[in-house]
Amino acid sequence: NRVYRLAKRPEGTPDRDTFELSEESVPDPGPGEALVRTLYLSVDPYMRDRMREGESYAEPWGVGDPLQGGVVGEVVESNGAGFESGDVVTGNLQWADYATALGPELTPVDPDVAPVSTALGVLGMPGLTAYFGTREVAQPSAGDTFVVTGAAGAVGSVAGQLAKLQGARVVGFTGSEEKVEFIEDELGFDAAINYKDTDDYRAALQEAAPDGVDAYFDNVGGEITDAVFTQLNVDARVAVCGQISQYNDEETPVGPRKLGQLIQSRATVRGFLIGDFEPRFEQATERLGQWVATGDVEYRETVTEGLENAPDAFLGLFEGENIGKQLVQVGER
Ligand code: NDP
Repeated sequence: NRVYRLAKRPEGTPDRDTFELSEESVPDPGPGEALVRTLYLSVDPYMRDRMREGESYAEPWGVGDPLQGGVVGEVVESNGAGFESGDVVTGNLQWADYATALGPELTPVDPDVAPVSTALGVLGMPGLTAYFGTREVAQPSAGDTFVVTGAAGAVGSVAGQLAKLQGARVVGFTGSEEKVEFIEDELGFDAAINYKDTDDYRAALQEAAPDGVDAYFDNVGGEITDAVFTQLNVDARVAVCGQISQYNDEETPVGPRKLGQLIQSRATVRGFLIGDFEPRFEQATERLGQWVATGDVEYRETVTEGLENAPDAFLGLFEGENIGKQLVQVGER
C-alpha cells in the first residue's frame, strides 16, 4: 500500500520534494469502518493551503501526515460500515492505494448514473461549488453579463454553463488558446479571453463585455480581478470563490486594490465556502445530474495515470495544465 505524506512545508511554489511516497501495510478496517481501494483521487487548489501552517479555513497537515483528499473507491471489506464489498463510494480519504473510513464518512456512488469519476468533478465538490456560487452568490439573470475566471477549470467551466442556463451572456478568462476554443466552441461561452496573450486585461474585457459586468465569479484574483472591478455595473454581485493566483505567495500583496471601484458600482462582494451549503448537496447533485444527462452541462476531465504521479497532477493546477477537472487514476474497477 503506497501512501503519500507531506515531506516538508513548501516555501512559495511546492515541488516534488514537498511529497514523500512510502510503502506501508494495507490498514485493517476497525469496527464501523470500511477498507476502500482507491480508483480516482482528486487534486484541488485548496490543498496548497493545507500545506501551510497557521490560519486557514482548511486544517493544516502536519509534516509527515498522510495527504488527504476527495477519493472515489471500491469497498474491499466492510466491518459493520453499512456497505457491501464492490460498492463504489466517495469520501475524504488518504492519497493511497487503500484507506479506511467510518461508514458515515463515505457516500455511495451509483455507477449507473454517470462515470464514477464525476463524483469528484461535475457531480462532486467542484460542480456544487459552481452551482451554489453561481446561483446563490453571483446570481446572474437573463440579459446580465457574467464573467468567470479559471473558466476552463473544474469549477469555472461549470459555473459559466450554469450562468448560460440562467440566460446570461458569459465571458471567461482562461490561460491558453486550446482552453479558449474549449469554452467557446464546446461549452458555448459567448466570449473568452486568453489572459496569457494580453497584458491589458481591462481593454480585453471592455471588448468582450461591452455592456459591463453584472455578475463576477472569481477563482483567480490578482490583476485580472482588478480589471474586472473597473467594469462592474451598478448593483453587480461578486462571488469570491478562489484566489489561486496568490496561493503560492508567501506574502499577501499590498491592498486594498481596486476597492474604490465598488463605491461607484455599489457592488456586493461575497466570499463563500461550499461546505456551508451541505444540507442542499443532494438536491443540487440531482439537478446537476439531470443537466449532464440532457447535455445542458458538459464536462471535461484531465486524468493523470498512477498514484505516483499525483504530485505532478497537483502541481499542474498552478501551471494551468488541466482542462476541466484534474483527477488521478489510481486503480481500475
Ligand atoms: P481548476 O480546475 O480551475 O484548476 C486551477 C486553474 O487555475 C488552472 O487550470 C489554471 O488555468 C488557473 N490558474 C492557475 N494559476 C493561475 C494564475 N496565477 N492566474 C490565473 N489563473 C491561474 O481548479 P478548481 O476548479 O478546482 O478550483 C478553482 C478555484 O475555486 C480555486 O481558486 C479553488 O481554490 C476555488 N474553490 C473554492 C471553493 C470554495 O468553497 N470557495 C471550493 C472549490 C474550489 P489557466 O490555464 O486558465 O491559467
